Amino acid sequence: MQLLDGNALAKKLRSEVAAAVEAFFAATGRRPGLHVVMVGEDPASEIYVRNKRRDCEKVGMVSEEHRLPAATRLEALLDLVARLNADGSADGVIVQLPLPKQLDANRVLEAIDPGKDVDGFHPLNLGRLVAGEPGLVPCTPSGCMRLLDEAGVALEGADAVVVGRSTIVGKPMAHLLLARHATVTMCHSRTRDLRAVVGRADVLIAAAGRPGLVRGEWVKPGAAVVDVGINRLADGKIVGDVEFDAAVARAAGLTPVPGGVGPMTVATLLQNTLIATKLQGL
Ligand code: NAP
Repeated sequence: MQLLDGNALAKKLRSEVAAAVEAFFAATGRRPGLHVVMVGEDPASEIYVRNKRRDCEKVGMVSEEHRLPAATRLEALLDLVARLNADGSADGVIVQLPLPKQLDANRVLEAIDPGKDVDGFHPLNLGRLVAGEPGLVPCTPSGCMRLLDEAGVALEGADAVVVGRSTIVGKPMAHLLLARHATVTMCHSRTRDLRAVVGRADVLIAAAGRPGLVRGEWVKPGAAVVDVGINRLADGKIVGDVEFDAAVARAAGLTPVPGGVGPMTVATLLQNTLIATKLQGL
């Protein structure tokens, strides 16, 4: 069994990005800038934002945070997004989710300049992904693809199963696999026989946010398994959606949680920021 090590691959990706950032700086005298907007105080978001800032600094990018109070009104948030869209030093713009209830996340995401939408959540970028056109691709599924590619997993003609159909993970993941000629099945909470579908997967992506949902004995022998889930148990332990210890005995490749998809998501965000920086320069 090959452990698909996200920490090691993220390090490699960061060094690729760092080299490109230095080349960009040498050519233009300017460093790519990632601007993150946070509304209110969400403990998980605080950790994600801190990791983004740390990784930006590691690769020589500029990281800026814009904090607004939890009671912020939609107009004020849209105003800030408009200012960042017009700001030449903001190459990438992220509005950290979840937003407080009074704010319509879709309205906010649609207000971000698609060329600066480094999360890849703008409908135009999602549409480009579905249409097979180049654009900014959501970071987590993009990081999963890189993990599969690095492990040399054959995708063409493979039976790929994605558990979870969210707009930020499951759906873009399915399209990325489809673009690589996998035969893709998507599962969700109404899927009738999850065990049977999972059992057919040569490539399995688990992104449901349910600890241990995918039992190790369901995994097809020789499958490549990417566990996107991040679940905190009552004792504080972080686990994925796949029963790791039992899956190890059957999978040919498996991502650990933590240390699998998580670090790849942030590293891919840096890569997207670099792409957005180059788009701005056009
Ligand atoms: P989400 O929006 O809550 O979506 C969860 C999906 O899983 C839904 O489509 C849901 O089906 C499906 N689902 C729930 N229970 C199921 C069940 N028993 N059987 C089959 N499908 C089921 O979550 P998300 O934002 O996509 O995130 C999924 C997980 O990935 C979470 O643990 C999250 O923390 C993690 N995550 C990790 C990273 C990372 O960097 N590693 C990034 C993003 C998210 P319905 O549509 O029918 O409700």
